[in-house]
Formats: sequence, structure tokens, C-alpha cells
Amino acid sequence: MTDDEDFMLQSRPITTIEEPDDAKVEASDSGAVNAAQGVTDGSGSVQAAESGSEGGSGASDGDASEATGEIIVDGLGSSPGTVSGAAQVVTKLDDLAKVGEGDIIVTEMTMPDMVPAMKRAAGIVTDEGGMTSHAAIVSRELGVPAIVGTTNATTVLEDGQLVTLDGEKGAVLEGETVDPEEETEPVEEVRPQSPVKPMTATEVKVNVSIPEAAERAAATGADGVGLLRTEHMILSLNQTPEKFIEENGTDAYIKELIQGIRTVADEFYPRPVRVRTLDAPSDEFRQLEGGDDEPVEHNPMLGYRGIRRSLDRTDVFGHELEAFARLYEMGYDNVEIMLPLVNDAEDVYRAKEQLKAAGIDPEKRKWGAMIETPAAALSVEELAEAGIDFASFGTNDLTQYTLAVDRNNEHVADRFDELHPAILRLLEDVIETCREHDIETSICGQAGSKPDMVQFLVNQGISSISANIDAVRDVQHEVKRVEEKLLLDSHR
Ligand code: PEP
Ligand code: MG
Repeated sequence: MTDDEDFMLQSRPITTIEEPDDAKVEASDSGAVNAAQGVTDGSGSVQAAESGSEGGSGASDGDASEATGEIIVDGLGSSPGTVSGAAQVVTKLDDLAKVGEGDIIVTEMTMPDMVPAMKRAAGIVTDEGGMTSHAAIVSRELGVPAIVGTTNATTVLEDGQLVTLDGEKGAVLEGETVDPEEETEPVEEVRPQSPVKPMTATEVKVNVSIPEAAERAAATGADGVGLLRTEHMILSLNQTPEKFIEENGTDAYIKELIQGIRTVADEFYPRPVRVRTLDAPSDEFRQLEGGDDEPVEHNPMLGYRGIRRSLDRTDVFGHELEAFARLYEMGYDNVEIMLPLVNDAEDVYRAKEQLKAAGIDPEKRKWGAMIETPAAALSVEELAEAGIDFASFGTNDLTQYTLAVDRNNEHVADRFDELHPAILRLLEDVIETCREHDIETSICGQAGSKPDMVQFLVNQGISSISANIDAVRDVQHEVKRVEEKLLLDSHR
């Protein structure tokens, strides 16, 4: 109190500034790596486990960890997170044995047999592939940072060389810049913390490709699975379906499928799981036992895959559908069937006949088609009349076929633009037509994880968005934000 005036001093403790942590090291000026952002900040930052390359070439020698932070290899950042570890160059399957806990796998391109090694690795770098290649999809689901399409990683990097991988920026840096002490846990990392999961009118679902990722996917609090790719289950058998059936019988094949799908359907029950029937191009099948019988195709992406293959081999497709029929008998009423790479209503009518032949009532079960070709987008009215319950945008393929840009070709990766006006026009038209026919719409391509696409689609009135596991939380918030803005605008 001074004279007649009262002064009040109010104070509160500062609780928002963290202790600086010397162990959190920065990398180079150019490719600065923020080593430890914390478990739940949404960055997906992951710490490497102890380098486990016993018997490797001096991977754990102290002096080798002196980091210059210089970028030595770059490519497409395809699974976020920053890790340090010893490189292990894998050129043949036998090399996988040398990959220890916390090592960085360096290879031309990953294959299904590599999944166990990918799980124990701290990071993955490939020469080939784009954002929708095997390495990109599987590493994202496992929560392992990855860089694809470097063109030269297997020649530049050496066994035991300590490197830091920045899966966000797509850079491999010289030396070990991340403290290997702390380790994040892939399931906890994606679990919504605070604020609680936003309630949205547009459903936010998640994509799953390997059943091993089901728990991590469910932990995101997603409203269901918008795409479960079955081909990774088949590829991991290491035999083509035909060969597997020949050697083990149809029942064993059906059981394998049931097992994989159940793992995910159980994890999410009663939330819906949209399971896609087999869609593997012949070049992927050729690597498997029995693959010699695969057709040699000049361009497998335009070839014998998706519904085309299924309708050509209705015997194999029938067994696949029998797996669905048995799942329904077992009470998995949350399973939905999605048909890949359809072009027109003819494809849908023929597939519907196959559903019926397998004892699946198309009127009772929920099923739909992917919109992955311009032809499908332009035929959506006829697809609706053929009885689909939903149309789901496969923007990875829709982009490659609309823009004539091979999705796995790193030389044209900069032209792969899912937000190209031509693509947006197709999406907008399909959503409008589907609304008129009371058909649900969704997106399950990579682009569903991008804020700009989310914004566009919610504004257009899409029913659901299916995102990558690591993107679900951000997509939930983005959808909420756009929906609230729409509501506000309607009152202004
Ligand atoms: C797509 O094409 O967008 C899609 C989700 O299918 P896939 O990536 O498996 O071809
Ligand atoms: Mg596709």
C-alpha cells in the first residue's frame, strides 16, 4: 500500500520450461536433427536401442560415434523419427542374420521375409521405392524410421558405419547424433494423450498392412480400419497362393487368411475393419516360391493385379472369399469387403456373383470398391447402381494412373502430386455422386494423412478418412478443426 493506492503482485511458478538435456544433440546446420522430442509430441521421434551388431565391424567402438552430422545419403523420408545406429547392408536374405537390435538396415528394397529383422532394426534405408513401397508402408506401421529411394545407400554406406537417420527429412547423417539411452515404445507413442480424442462427425480410421501392427493401430483410438491390405499376409507365406494351396491344401490357405484378418478384427471389435481382397502385382509374386509361373509383364502396375487377377482366377478368389464367409460365421460382423482396382460396373457385378457363390449375402454384408483408376471415378454412378455400400479412394494408384507417374519410380517422385487439380476434381465428383446415392465415401491412400487433403475432403463431405498409424492423431485434430470451421461459417 502506498498512500491511498493498493498494489498487488501476482506470481506463479514457471512450469513450462524443461531442463536442457545435454544428451539431446543437434546434428548439422543443414539437416539439423532434433534428437529427442518426447514420446507423445506427435513427431514420431524414436530413439535407437543399443547397437546390437555383435561381431560387426566395430559398430560400437567409441571413436566411431564422433558425429560430423554431414548428410551422406538422401532420399524420401517415409517413416518419421530420428535414430542412430550401425548400418548393416543387406544384399541377400542370409545377410539378415547380422542385423541386430538397433541396427540400421540398408538394402535395395525390403521384402516380406525381412519383417522380423525390420522389427528389431532401429531404422531402414533403401535404394529403391517410393512412399507407397513395401519398405515405406511396413516401416511406418512398425514405427521404425525409414528413408526410401536413395538410389545409392547400399553402395555409399558400409557395414558397421555409425549413422543417424532422419526419417522426416529423408537424410542419413554421418555419425551417431542420437542418444541411445532413451527408447520410445511404438504402441504408447501413438496412443492419444491429452486432450482426449476429438469427437468428429467424419470418421477417422487407420490403415493396416501387417497384422503385427494391429495393436499399435488400435491404440490410436481410430474409428476402425479403413484399409487392411491382405497381400502382406500372403507375401509372408513366401509362396504364391497357387503354390501354397498346391503344397498345403485350400483349408490351410483359408486358415492363414482367417488368422491374419482375425488378429486385426479382434483388436478393433466392434469397430469396422475394411478388408481388401488380394492386390499384388506379378513382380511382387515373382519373388515368391511358385513365382516362376507369374506372367512376365512389361509394366506390372498396369497389369495382372487387383480384381482383374481375382476375376481371372476365380478358384483362388473363391478360397479367399470363403475366409470371409467363415469369419462371418464366427461372428466377425465388423468385417467389410473391399474390392481393389475395379474399373467399371462390370467388374463389380462379376465380383458380386463371386461373393454369392462363396455364400456371402451382398445385401447383408457391407462391401464396396476402391476408386483407384480414372475409369472407376468416372463410372461411380454405375458402381452405385451395382450395389456397393462404399467407395474408397486409393489415391496412390489414382494419382499414378491419372498423372501417368509411376508411384514407385524415384525419378518422377517429385511429380507424384495427390493434390493435383485433376485428382481433386475426380474426388469431388465422386463424393457428390455418392452422396446423391447414399453411398459412403472414404480415402485410404497415403494422401489421407496429409492436412491439405483432409481439409479438402472434409469440406467436400467425405464420410471417413483412413490415415497411417502415426498420422491418426493429427488427422483427428485436423478433421475437428475443419468441421468446427464449417459449423461456424454456416452461422456467420
Ligand atoms: C492406393 O492405391 O491408394 C491404395 C491404398 O492401395 P495400394 O497402395 O495398396 O495400392
Ligand atoms: Mg492401390
